[in-house]
Amino acid sequence: MTEKFKPETLCVQAGWTPKKGDPRILPIYQSTTFKYDTSEQMARLFDLEDSGYFYTRLQNPTNDAVAAKIAALEGGVAAMLTASGQAANFYAIFNICQAGDHFVCSSAIYGGTFNLFSVTMKKLGIEVTFINPDASEEEITAAFRPNTKLLFGETISNPSLEVLDIEKFAKIAHAQGVPLIIDNTFPTPINCRPFEWGADIVVHSTTKYMDGHAATVGGCIVDSGNFDWDAYADKFPGLCTPDESYHGLTYTKSFGKGAYITKATAQLMRDLGSAQGPQNAFILNIGLETLHLRMPQHCKNAQRVAEYLESCEEVAWVNYCGLPSNKYYERAQKYMPNGSCGVISFGLKGGRETSIKFMDSLKLVAIVTHVADARTCVLHPASHTHRQLSDEQLIEAGVRPDLIRLSVGIENADDIVNDIAQALKA
Ligand SMILES: *Cc1c(COP(=O)(O)O)cnc(C)c1O
Repeated sequence: MTEKFKPETLCVQAGWTPKKGDPRILPIYQSTTFKYDTSEQMARLFDLEDSGYFYTRLQNPTNDAVAAKIAALEGGVAAMLTASGQAANFYAIFNICQAGDHFVCSSAIYGGTFNLFSVTMKKLGIEVTFINPDASEEEITAAFRPNTKLLFGETISNPSLEVLDIEKFAKIAHAQGVPLIIDNTFPTPINCRPFEWGADIVVHSTTKYMDGHAATVGGCIVDSGNFDWDAYADKFPGLCTPDESYHGLTYTKSFGKGAYITKATAQLMRDLGSAQGPQNAFILNIGLETLHLRMPQHCKNAQRVAEYLESCEEVAWVNYCGLPSNKYYERAQKYMPNGSCGVISFGLKGGRETSIKFMDSLKLVAIVTHVADARTCVLHPASHTHRQLSDEQLIEAGVRPDLIRLSVGIENADDIVNDIAQALKA
């Protein structure tokens, strides 16, 4: 199944192509291990001389079929599933950076990613510099150092909902000889395909819209195959020089455009684990089969709710890039002409306390940590996901202390609006 099909068809059919007598739908290969006839056959797998399955910590056929579907949707050459979005982000960076390296990152990113990059990666000797994504090319370029290995940003940041100028970021990264990694969780490839705008690697928390039912935590890394590692071989020794743990094999020489994902699988998954369970991959795949139907409904409902909120006098501000009044409206029209995502943020007059009272008064709309699934839900980042951050750090991450994050689901829009209306009165 190749890219000749449109996204709707890929959602339903890509990844698993049954042969004669095979199960029609993707089977769950619920097995830790795989059988071979000779010791020689198995040895060749361990040396990466043949491709095949031997242990689910590294690769599993169910997972690979789902990864192939996501790769097809993004227009990439290869992909790898991970146990969570956090693992995807960690591996995407750690596959390139080692102790002593540095990377540049948009400050408008998910709180968990911010913590991973600024605290945990630092303990591993990898440093990050956060930049305002709307700063000029010159300002962002000034954050690069000789040991900078990549640039990172989110298409639509969670929860601040800033829309990234992907083309600008790609230009800056490529002028410095490093890849651009984009977290494309919120729009999904249905609404935005960052490779078409110059991104090199895309990561996802599949936990969100891709699964779409709040059933499984998962992540994915997709490689476009476009970045020429060997052109900057001195910057990327892990990919361009021999790997002692595979008898001196060099990923770029042996795997060409598959080098990055092969290294992530053969080295990082082997050593660090965090593989997605095949059951979860199966559930994720069922979610993906309707992604093209759910995303437009999320966007349509969110647009309606955002317009309603903007008309309410109790509401101090509304942030949704589908509103013509929004700072990112034009940019969103360019990168996501068919809609962005179902997540809105807003603040109430009266600030923090009023926001909490409002949330407690909602009936249909539930308070949950989750975001981006079929059911409408709400969260107050300053009291929940971003509790660790000071008010100053909150502002820096684009999260105002009164910000309410509303993830609009695929229910009837009138019912969502009515619930909000009654809670605003309360
Ligand atoms: C949720 C999220 C993550 C982390 O993913 P998990 O699956 O929760 O580990 C990373 N990036 C973004 C944009 C997210 O929304």
